[in-house]
Amino acid sequence: MATKKDFYEILGVEKNASEADIKTAYRKLALKYHPDRNPDNKEAEEKFKEAAQAYEVLSDPQKRKQYDQFGHAGPEGFQGYGQDVNMEDIFGQFGDIFGSIFGQEGGRKQRARRKNAGPLPKQGHDLYKEITISLQEAYTGTKKEIGYYHFVPCPGCDGKGLSKGSSYQECQTCHGAGEQHYRQGFFTFSQACGTCSGEGFTIPKPCPICNGQSRIQKYEKINPTIPKGIYDGAELRVSKAGDAGVFGGPAGALFIKINIAPDKRFTRVDDNLQCTVMLTYPQLVFGAQLEIENIDGTKETIKIPKGCAVGHRIIISGKGFVNLNTKRTGDLVVVTQCHIPTKLAAPAAELLKHYSEQIGTSTAESESSIKGFFKKFLG
Ligand SMILES: [Zn+2]
Ligand SMILES: [Zn+2]
Repeated sequence: MATKKDFYEILGVEKNASEADIKTAYRKLALKYHPDRNPDNKEAEEKFKEAAQAYEVLSDPQKRKQYDQFGHAGPEGFQGYGQDVNMEDIFGQFGDIFGSIFGQEGGRKQRARRKNAGPLPKQGHDLYKEITISLQEAYTGTKKEIGYYHFVPCPGCDGKGLSKGSSYQECQTCHGAGEQHYRQGFFTFSQACGTCSGEGFTIPKPCPICNGQSRIQKYEKINPTIPKGIYDGAELRVSKAGDAGVFGGPAGALFIKINIAPDKRFTRVDDNLQCTVMLTYPQLVFGAQLEIENIDGTKETIKIPKGCAVGHRIIISGKGFVNLNTKRTGDLVVVTQCHIPTKLAAPAAELLKHYSEQIGTSTAESESSIKGFFKKFLG
C-alpha cells in the first residue's frame, strides 16, 4: 500500500488543526474503519491503516514539522509510510487511543514487561448496535430482542487456544519480544514479528475449534430492558455483552443506540408529551368537556374553557415522560385547534350564514357579497 494522499486530507482536518482536533478526527476514523466493525472489508482495512499512518505523523510535533516542510517526497520524507503495516503494530503503537476506545493497553509495552511465553489476556472490544422503537415504547418502557454476532470464549479449549495437553511456546524469531526493528533514513521503524504476528509466542498445536484464537463468533440474542423515559439518541450500555476477551481477558460492553420513530399524534418536547385536539367553533366558544386518549391508551378528561383560543395549552400534570436522570415526570400538553369543515350540510350552512349576518361579517356566501359580486359582474 503506497500512501500518497495528504495526511491532513486523510484525517479530514485543516493544516493548522490542533493536536486535540487531530486526535478527535483520528478516533472517529479509527472507530469507523476498525477491522472488527468491518470484517473482511479490505477497503476499510486500508482506510484504517492510512488513518493510523497519518495520525502517527501528525500527532508527533517533530514528524509533523518534517511533513509540513517536505511532504511525502521530502529529502528524508515519509516513504517509509508506504510500507505495509501490521494491524497489531497499529494497535500497539496507538495504545493510548485504542486504550480508551477499545480497552486495550499498548500491547508493545505489555510484551516488553512479559517474562514467560504465553498469551497476555486482552480485553474484548465494545460492540455497537442501533435499534428503533416507537414513541409509545419510549413512554411506557419496553423489552427488545436484539440478535447479534459477537465473540465468545471457545468452548473447546476454555479460551486458551490450545489443543488438549499442549502448551504455548516462546517465539524463536523474536524471543518473545513480538517485534523486529529496521532502519529507513534517519527513522527506526519497528514491525510486528512476522513469525508470531507480534504475539511473542506460538501455539504449536492450536485448538481445532477456534484455530488457536481462544474465542469463536457466535450469534446470540439478548432482551435488554429499555427504561421508560428513554430519549432519542440515548445509548444503553450492556456490560460484558460485547466481544469476549482474547485468551481469557475481560469481555467488552455492548452499546445500544436508541432511535425513536416519530409518532403521528404525539411529540416529545423536553419531558412533556404534546398533542393537539381538534375542536369545533361552538366548542371553543361555549367550552366543553371531553375525553382524549393518551399515547399509552389511557383516557384523560380535558376541560375546554369558555371562549377558548386556538393554540391554548391544557396541561395535565405528571402525564408526560419520566426524566431518566431526575425521575421527575413531565406533563401532557394538549394544544387546542379549530376544526374547519370544508363541507357543511345545508341546514348547518344556513345557520352559519345567518350567524355571520347577525354579527355583521361579510363572507363569500353572504347576501351582500353575492349582490356585490353580481353588481360588479353585470356592471
Ligand atoms: Zn515472534
Ligand atoms: Zn478453542
